[in-house]
Amino acid sequence: KRALCWVRRDLRLHDHFALSEALKNADETIVAFIFDELILEKLHNKNDPRVSIIMDSLREMETQLQKYSSSLIVRFGNPVEEIPKLIAEYKIDGLFFNRDYEPYAKKRDSEIEQILLAQKKAVYTFKDHVFFEKNEILNGSGEIYKVFTPYKNKWLETFRAQEEFIPEYKCNLKKLYPIKNSKNIIDHDWLHEIAFLETPCVLTGGSKEALKRLNTFREFIENYKEARDVPALEQTSNLSSYIRMGNLSVRDMIRLAVEKRNSGYETWLSEIIWRDFYQVILDAYPRVDKHCFRPEYDNIKWLGSKKDFQAWCDGQTGYPLVDAAMRCLNTTGMMHNRLRMVVASFLTKTLLIDWRLGERYFAEKLLDYDMAANNGGWQWSASTGVDAQPYFRIFNPYNQSEKFDPEGIYIRQWCPELSRFSNKTIHSPHDTEIFEQVEAKCFVGKDYPAPIVGYKQQRDRALAMYKAVK
Ligand code: FAD
Repeated sequence: KRALCWVRRDLRLHDHFALSEALKNADETIVAFIFDELILEKLHNKNDPRVSIIMDSLREMETQLQKYSSSLIVRFGNPVEEIPKLIAEYKIDGLFFNRDYEPYAKKRDSEIEQILLAQKKAVYTFKDHVFFEKNEILNGSGEIYKVFTPYKNKWLETFRAQEEFIPEYKCNLKKLYPIKNSKNIIDHDWLHEIAFLETPCVLTGGSKEALKRLNTFREFIENYKEARDVPALEQTSNLSSYIRMGNLSVRDMIRLAVEKRNSGYETWLSEIIWRDFYQVILDAYPRVDKHCFRPEYDNIKWLGSKKDFQAWCDGQTGYPLVDAAMRCLNTTGMMHNRLRMVVASFLTKTLLIDWRLGERYFAEKLLDYDMAANNGGWQWSASTGVDAQPYFRIFNPYNQSEKFDPEGIYIRQWCPELSRFSNKTIHSPHDTEIFEQVEAKCFVGKDYPAPIVGYKQQRDRALAMYKAVK
C-alpha cells in the first residue's frame, strides 16, 4: 500500500501524527506540500516574509527526506485539484493529513475527502494541531465551554486523568517512497513561478531553529509569570510563529510546560491552553471569523475615522507605547502579547474603530498570524468575544505605559525621537513644558505627533457607544 501525507500547517518530520500513522500503516509514504493559490492570492504583499519561513521549513524537510533517498513533492495550485492529481500520478491508496479548524480549510478538506471517497480511496485525518479537540473538553451538560477558567480546569482535569500522558508520534522515515528526480525545491525557483519574492525575515523557519528556541526558553520559563508582561525584557518564548507553521508540535511545548511545578511553568501551560480554547471556539463557531461572538455587538455604530486608523497603522497616534508597538509590528512582523492587548484596546475603545479592521491589519503583518488566536485576541480586547473583558474595562494607555515600560526602554527603541525624555515624561511627552521639549530635542506636534484624540473624552464616547447596543 502507498500513502500520501499532505503537510500543511505542520511543516516538520518529527512528532507528526499523520506522518507517523502513514509510515506505520503503508508500505511506502510520499510527503507533499501544496502552495495553495487561494491563500496566496489573498496576501497583498508579494514580499511577505511568512513565505520565507515556509521556504526555510520546506528546504529543511527536503534535506532530511533526501537522506532517506526520498524527496518532498511541492506543487502550486488549488489543493482540491492538486491532491487528486497526485493521488492518480503516484497511484496512492490512502491520504493522511492533520486536521485544520479554520473555516476555509475545513471546507477544502471536506471537498477533497468527498472526491477521494468517490474514487474509493481512503482518507485518514488526525488530531495534531491541538492537544484536545472540541468534543473532548465539555461541560456537565455536554456543551462547549464559553468561559476560559472552567475550560482550563476541565482541560487540566482531563490531562491529569490520563496521568499527564503526552503522546509522541515517532516518524520512521525508513519507509519513505524513493523519489529520485522530483522537482527539487532548493534548486527550483518556485517563488518566481508563483510571483512571490523571498524576502529577509527576522526569523529562520524550520524545526531545528524551533526546537533550539524551545530549549533556550528553559532559561526563562521559571520567571515567566512575572516577566511575561514586560516587553523590554523579551522573556516570552517567541515560539508562536513556529507553532503556527508547525515547525514544532503542541506536544513539544506541553512537554516543557510540565517539566516542573512552579508558577512560571503553570502560567506558560495556561497560555497554551488559551491556544486550544480559541481553536475550539473557531471550530465550533466559525461565524466569529466575520461576526462578534456576542451578536448584540454586531450592531455597534463604530464612530472612529479612517484617518485615525491610518495613524494607528503607521505608529503616529501621539501615544508613545501604542506607536512603539505598531512600529515594531511594521518592521519585524512581531508584537509582544501585552502590547497586542494595548493597541487593540486603543483601536477599539479609544479610537472607536471596528475590531475587524485591526484584526485584518494584524493578519497581514503578523509572522505568527493564526486566525483562531488573532480573532480570539481581538474579540477579547473589543469585549465582543467569548469570555471577553467587560466593555467598560478600558485600558488607560498612559497607565499601561508606566506600568509595563516604566523606564521607557521599549518606547526609546521604537520611537527614538522620544529617547531624551525622562523616564517620567516619556509616557506623555505632550504634557511637558516647552523647555523640557527643547532639552529633549523633540517638539511635540513637529518631531513627534500630539495625541490624535484625547483619552478621557474618547473613554466616555466608547462607553456610550457600547451601552447603546446593550
Ligand atoms: P508565549 O507567551 O511564550 O506563549 C506560548 C504560546 O502560547 C504562544 O507561542 C502561543 O502559541 C500561545 N499563546 C500565548 N498567548 C496566547 C493567547 N492569548 N491566545 C492564544 N494563544 C496564545 N497569537 C498567535 O499565535 N497568533 C495571532 O495571530 C495572535 N493574535 C493576537 C491578537 C491580539 C489582539 C491578542 C491580544 C493576542 C494575539 N495572539 C496571537 C496571542 C499572543 O499575543 C501570542 O500568541 C504571543 O504574543 C506569542 O508570543 P510567544 O510565542 O512569545 O508567547
